Order: sequence, then structure tokens, then C-alpha cells
Amino acid sequence: MITAREVIQKKRDRGTLTRQEISSFIRGYMSAQITDYQVAAWLMAVYLNGMTIDETIALTREMRDSGTVLDLSSIRGRKVDKHSTGGVGDKTSMMVAPIAAACGVTVPMITGRALGHTGGTLDKLESIAGFNAKPSPGKILQILKSTGAVIMGQTDDLAPADRRIYALRDVTSTVESIPLITASILSKKLAEGIDGLVMDVKTGSGAFMSTLDAATALSRSIVDVCRAMKTKIVVVITDMEQPLGRAIGNALEIRECIEFLKGRTSDDLETITITLAAHMIVLGGRARSIDHASKLAYEAVSKGEAARRFRQIIRAQSGDERVMDDLDLLPRAAHSRDLRARTSGFVTRCDAKLLGMASNALGAGRNRVDDSIDPAVGLYLQKKAGDRVIKGEVLCRIHWNDERRLKSSLPLIEQAYEIRPRPARRRPLIHGILKG
Ligand code: URA
Repeated sequence: MITAREVIQKKRDRGTLTRQEISSFIRGYMSAQITDYQVAAWLMAVYLNGMTIDETIALTREMRDSGTVLDLSSIRGRKVDKHSTGGVGDKTSMMVAPIAAACGVTVPMITGRALGHTGGTLDKLESIAGFNAKPSPGKILQILKSTGAVIMGQTDDLAPADRRIYALRDVTSTVESIPLITASILSKKLAEGIDGLVMDVKTGSGAFMSTLDAATALSRSIVDVCRAMKTKIVVVITDMEQPLGRAIGNALEIRECIEFLKGRTSDDLETITITLAAHMIVLGGRARSIDHASKLAYEAVSKGEAARRFRQIIRAQSGDERVMDDLDLLPRAAHSRDLRARTSGFVTRCDAKLLGMASNALGAGRNRVDDSIDPAVGLYLQKKAGDRVIKGEVLCRIHWNDERRLKSSLPLIEQAYEIRPRPARRRPLIHGILKG
């Protein structure tokens, strides 16, 4: 049998590992026969030399099978999840889950926390008092059967190899690798026992994959692995050059979601949310075409059914459902301050990464997994790229609690906005769709 040292050497020398070699390496790591420093060296070799698609499939399968694979066979119909590679103001999960559920799709959604400049759905949901992001396995089934959707955190026994490997990648600068990202995301998603997945791969300044080429390469890798694992997949490559919607920050984003579900929305948020929900509805077997599914998704919102589902999800997960009627029950920052335009013209840049970092600096995000967050702080963008602006008009409202933090966020917000006499060419909201 090949040793850990030989596996590392083979990848270092640009060799292709067999399924058995990948399997024994990951199993050896999980059973403590292979050390962190050996896996770290191997990760760097993978980062530098890449993996073939067969290697990526073998790694994904091994990481998925390192823990429990949920059995949802007692629930009738297709189970579909949606996952985003992460962005700023990216709050679509909390809207697509109730919309798809309202259209008859079962949505077992496992989601994450904020890290770096991007926000996390779990942190956002926890700004609703009492919300329980970790229901027991029995409760998960019960919620899925009664409401059609559950939105929860990753449990300890779901793809544990990913948790350990991700922690090593984080400290060895090996995160930005297409095969490693593919295996990391899909090992967790495929352990949910889903039949279909809609992936939102972000591209632009606020995304992991800032260039369209990199986002497309990641999307192809995800489609190829899902195809091999017999899971239906749609990847929508969406723009993250500027934040999605207007709110950035946990409670502020929940407020925007509830307003959306009650019919008030900004264009980009509506386009992306309805597109993602429509693909979930088609994968869930509830519509034949995207046009029909989009119509169903719009109706779920306009008839109030999606809002009712979101209320049910909050209630089932022990949250205070009264926020649906009274947004002032959400945490509110003690202070707010407006950033105003210094000149007139058009907003030509509203940089997602800088605004994500600014929101983080206010306390909305975390730089380390054990940092605590402030649910109330964040930004509300009055102006976005393409908007005309008059000198003195408000560009952005800053919701803050700590003056020192406010001071560190202000230069980032100033730098994020650019105003020019002429508008810049608009970037598309959706750069491409891949299916498998
Ligand atoms: N999200 C994940 O879960 N894993 C990665 O490697 C990158 C983003």
C-alpha cells in the first residue's frame, strides 16, 4: 500500500493519484495515522499542481463519506438545496428557501457563518431572537415535513474531513484552489441527501473567484463532479462587483429579506432571487420550464405564501416570528450616520469587497471563526453603480455602535464609491448558466 509520504511525493511531482490513494490518504488523516503537517504539504502540492476531474470526484466522495450522509427518503418528492460561493449583501438563501418550499420543493438547506469580508446566512438568521440554527436530526425531519424547508448550520458529523481540511487550508494559503473548493462545497452538500443543487457562483471584486474565467472554471468543475455523483446541478454565475440589494449586515439584511417577501425589493435582488428559486423549482420537478417556474416564484411572493413559509420556518426553529409583522423587533444600532456625495455625477463603482470589509470593521463580520459579531451594525446603500447622484445626496447610511469601529470603516466606504461625470458600462447581473 502507498504511504502518505508517497502520496505527497506523487502530487508534488505532478502525478495523478488513484481513487484508492486518495481514499487511503483521507481515511488515514481521519483516523490520526496521517498528521496535519503531512496533509498541509499535500494541500500545497494540490494547490500548485491541481487535480484531474477524476481525482476531484474521488476526493469529494471520500470527504462526503467521512461522516453521516442524511437519509431523507422518508420525505416524498425531490429535495433541492441552493448554495452560494459567498458575497456581500448576499441574502438570497433566506428568500429562495421559502419561495421554493411554497412551490412544493423540499429544501434541506445547510448554510454557514460569516468569514472574511463575506456575510453568513446563519449569523443573519440568529439576529432573529431565539432562532435555533442547530435542530436535532429528528427535528430536522419534522420541520421539513411540516414547512418544506429548514435552514441550519453544519452538524459535527456532516463531512468532518472538510472541517479539518478547511481549517488547514485557511492557515496554509491553500483556499483558492478549484479542486479543493469543489470538494469542500460538494462534500457537504452531497451529504445532505439532496437530489438537486442550485449553485450561485459569484464573480467580481467581492467574490472568491474575482475573474469570470476563474468562476467559469469552478462552475465546470462543480458540474462535472455533480454529474459523476448523479446529482442534478444548475450553476448560475452571478455578479458580485457591487453588493447584492441594499443592506449589508445581519439584522439589516433580515429586514430587507422580509420586505422582499412582502413585495418591496430592489431590481438586482429580485432578478437573482427569482432566477435561483426558479431553477430550484424546475430541479424539484414542480415546473417544466424556467419561465413557468419564475411565474410560480413571483406568485408565491405576491400571494404572500413565501412570507407565510418564512414565518413557519422561523417558528419551527424557535425564532420570534413576530419580526414578520414588526421589523423593529430586530436589533438596531444605537447610532446612524450618512455618507454624502462630494460631487455630482454617476456612481461608477460601489465596490463589494471594500463595503464588505467596512461592514466587518463596524463589527458585522468576523475574521476568525471564534470572533463574536454585532447583529445590529452595517450599511444601507442609497446609491449603487449606475445611479445618478447630486452633490450632498446620501450615498450610504452607516449603522454603528462603536466610535472606534466607525472610524476604521469610514475610509473603506469612501474608497468603495467612485463618482464620475459619465456612467460606466453596466455589468450583467447573470454572467452564465451551466447545467449537469
Ligand atoms: N466554501 C466552502 O465551503 N469551501 C471552500 O473551499 C470555499 C467556499
